[in-house]
Amino acid sequence: MQNIDNYDFKGKKAIVRVDFNVPLNDQLQITDDTRIRAAIPTLKKVLASGGALIIMSHLGRPKGPSDKYSLKHILPRVQQLLGVPVRFADDCQKADAEAAALKPGEALLLENLRFYAEEEGKPRLSDDATDEQKKAAKAVLKESQKNFVKKLASYADCYINDAFGTAHRAHASTALIASYFPDDKMFGYLMQNEINGIDKAIKNPVRPLTAILGGAKVSSKLGIIENLLDKVDNLIIGGGMLFTFVKAEGGNIGDSICEEDQIEEAKAILEKAKAKGIDLYIHRKVTVADAFSEDANSKVCDAFDIPDGWRGMDAAPESFETWKEIIDKSKTVLWNGPMGVFEMPKFAKGTNEMAKILAEVTEKGAYTLVGGGDSVSAIKHMGYADKVSYVSTGGGAMLEYLEGIDLPGIKAIRD
Ligand code: AMP
Repeated sequence: MQNIDNYDFKGKKAIVRVDFNVPLNDQLQITDDTRIRAAIPTLKKVLASGGALIIMSHLGRPKGPSDKYSLKHILPRVQQLLGVPVRFADDCQKADAEAAALKPGEALLLENLRFYAEEEGKPRLSDDATDEQKKAAKAVLKESQKNFVKKLASYADCYINDAFGTAHRAHASTALIASYFPDDKMFGYLMQNEINGIDKAIKNPVRPLTAILGGAKVSSKLGIIENLLDKVDNLIIGGGMLFTFVKAEGGNIGDSICEEDQIEEAKAILEKAKAKGIDLYIHRKVTVADAFSEDANSKVCDAFDIPDGWRGMDAAPESFETWKEIIDKSKTVLWNGPMGVFEMPKFAKGTNEMAKILAEVTEKGAYTLVGGGDSVSAIKHMGYADKVSYVSTGGGAMLEYLEGIDLPGIKAIRD
């Protein structure tokens, strides 16, 4: 594995996997170019060091070639942000001539990798395909995927993976291609920052380490909770999943969201936390509503004694002081998942307060990491994104990394 800062790009062609999967409106205009901006430092580094770029990405979930998902729609923005003309290869498998013609300082963008099923390695069959057909199609695809990867690799002298958002997928361009560059593969800056940002919180953190986990379901966070139980000093549970824990403790949760089939798991987590001496905090005071609606009647209630007809929607201000106390004493804080139904302003107080507490403790010198789609939007919405130490945009990849899973995109570069 190489390091992008030390690698000699002079006269070399670098094939770079980026995540240009940006949202487009009906007129196919980019509505948020954050992901393109995030890859620019890596791309500029290659050009400035005398290398040439072959940029590859997916966009959306096409079932085959389609204008709607063409990367040509984002080409002007890539050129603008990169500050050099970028050529376009309208078929990622037929770009030999364009790649060969690249001179140092020049760039080429390949058309959407997912126009080919080989990128993901998943056969595109109709829903009524039999298991036999699926198996046969998968075997055929596995063979053609080898040629697909080989072709992409043939364009370049080195490989850079800067797409953290897809690092949890073992796709052709995110993992398989790396084997063609045993001595010339490396992470891009975004990928490196994401890995460092998360590692700083979970591998050798400055203690105490507090994790705050919210969101709707225990089931989707189970792997993370299990992994974090081996690392954290304090664990604050919030959001909808709080109620599965309250029920596991014998509380009355009224009509609150609850995963009945996770109650035993919740009990096991509570036991495990106790055995490990972890302070697992389930707040007692919640804001409840008589309907899942912004216009519903609401009141503050004991989380363990919610009347029928009422459901927990947010943490109540009575809980905020305790959060503050725990977090104030922490030197490292990790937050994933909203503390309530934050999409409704009336029930966003807990989530907003958590963002504020994190900003305050960061100012006092703690390392704070916020990750996961909803907590990231909440912190951005509050204007606190640059008041915490690191905001991970990795989404699913970040969650799997927090679960302790060896992500294929990372492994392929390191191995
Ligand atoms: P997740 O994707 O698991 O992080 O869950 C995020 C979702 O959890 C958001 O859409 C929130 O509205 C939802 N959520 C948070 N608290 C509650 C709650 N008390 N009841 C129902 N949904 C909740």
